[in-house]
Amino acid sequence: MNFDLSEQQQLLRTSVREFARAEIAPHAGAWDREERFPKEIVPKLASMGLLGIRIPEVYGGSEMDMTSYALTVEEIARVDGSMALTVASHNGLGTGHILAFGTEAQKQKYLTKAASGEWLAAWGLTEPGSGSDAAGMATTAVRDGDRWVINGTKMFITQGSVGGFCVVLARSNTTASKQRGITAFIVEHGTPGFSASGHLRKLGCRSSDTAELVFEDVVVGDGQRLGEVDHGFIDTLKILDRGRISIAAMALGLGYGALEMAIAYAKERKQFGKAIGEFQAIQWMLADSKVELDAAALLTYRAAWLADEGRPFIQEASMAKLFASEASTRACNKALQVHGGYGYTREFAVERHLRDAKLCEIGEGTSEVQRMVIAKHLLA
Ligand SMILES: Cc1cc2nc3c(=O)[nH]c(=O)nc-3n(C[C@H](O)[C@H](O)[C@H](O)COP(=O)(O)OP(=O)(O)OC[C@H]3O[C@@H](n4cnc5c(N)ncnc54)[C@H](O)[C@@H]3O)c2cc1C
Repeated sequence: MNFDLSEQQQLLRTSVREFARAEIAPHAGAWDREERFPKEIVPKLASMGLLGIRIPEVYGGSEMDMTSYALTVEEIARVDGSMALTVASHNGLGTGHILAFGTEAQKQKYLTKAASGEWLAAWGLTEPGSGSDAAGMATTAVRDGDRWVINGTKMFITQGSVGGFCVVLARSNTTASKQRGITAFIVEHGTPGFSASGHLRKLGCRSSDTAELVFEDVVVGDGQRLGEVDHGFIDTLKILDRGRISIAAMALGLGYGALEMAIAYAKERKQFGKAIGEFQAIQWMLADSKVELDAAALLTYRAAWLADEGRPFIQEASMAKLFASEASTRACNKALQVHGGYGYTREFAVERHLRDAKLCEIGEGTSEVQRMVIAKHLLA
């Protein structure tokens, strides 16, 4: 869909589209079947400036706005949900948290390595026992002079095993209210007591790395603390607000990609002596998907634009994420239906898009959580 994009944003969209088609699309199916995170793509993403999208140039980043970030994630998702999730979570969560709340020394060290692709970033909020109720976490950080001792387990962490470091949220104050007693820390891989257990086998986004992280008496200096003591959860909410725009963009890309495949197939596949695209039933599926995805795009780019303008966008980001993710799943499901039995096979990428799109209804706050956020704003 076309918006009033700047020349720079249009150029970015074209170059990311070409990159995704040349470097990701030909391999996405194999990576998915192998359930393997393709480390070989990391230097290519870095050289395109896609691992430091929001990071200032002084740290080696591309210093782009939220609209450009959304455009990038959307274009990658048109061909591969896994790589879109990788780019979205690396830029928005792990590095986003350091960009927003890190010290100068932390930015110098971690943002530079993140932008160059030397270290991918992970972000550990979710735990086996706390997902939607993220502040109900059990991981603890106990202060011991100038050091902190972290214990606990984090679940479903993207780039958990392939990342170079993880921003981890831990309860630092047991007497404060749930949301007020959490602190963020940066923990590097190789720190004694910090381990990532394998990769989880998933319905979709199978070549995105998802791991369980264990922290056993992990000792970090106070210099690894990210943001104010006991303020980590409040900061986290701000990270998630922006992250939701990127998941909306991922959903959009997956939906548009599936729609393109369905249009091509509808023109080519013949039944009853004519292309199936001539049947009204097929035309309506294509038309409904186009309307819903364009509506989702308007919501998504409105939220990104508001963020770029420095205006309130929390409710709008939740609306975009909610609508785009559910519209994407519907569009991918219809696109698979247009492909008939062939769509149900792995010969066609449309089934991968449907599996990948479902994640967008769950990650960074489920659809139910988005409805809670929107309703809270309405009733405030
Ligand atoms: C592939 C993948 C990648 C992920 N990456 C990361 C990551 O990098 N970092 C990270 O920290 N987390 C990550 N997550 C975790 C993700 O954010 C959580 O899965 C999500 O927030 C939901 O939490 P949960 O799975 O514990 O579900 P639950 O919170 O247990 O929810 C189960 C169901 O109950 C519903 N529910 C819960 N509370 C309410 C309520 N109050 N009202 C109505 N319905 C409710 C939910 O909507 C859902 O339908 C990832 C997850 C996946 C699958």
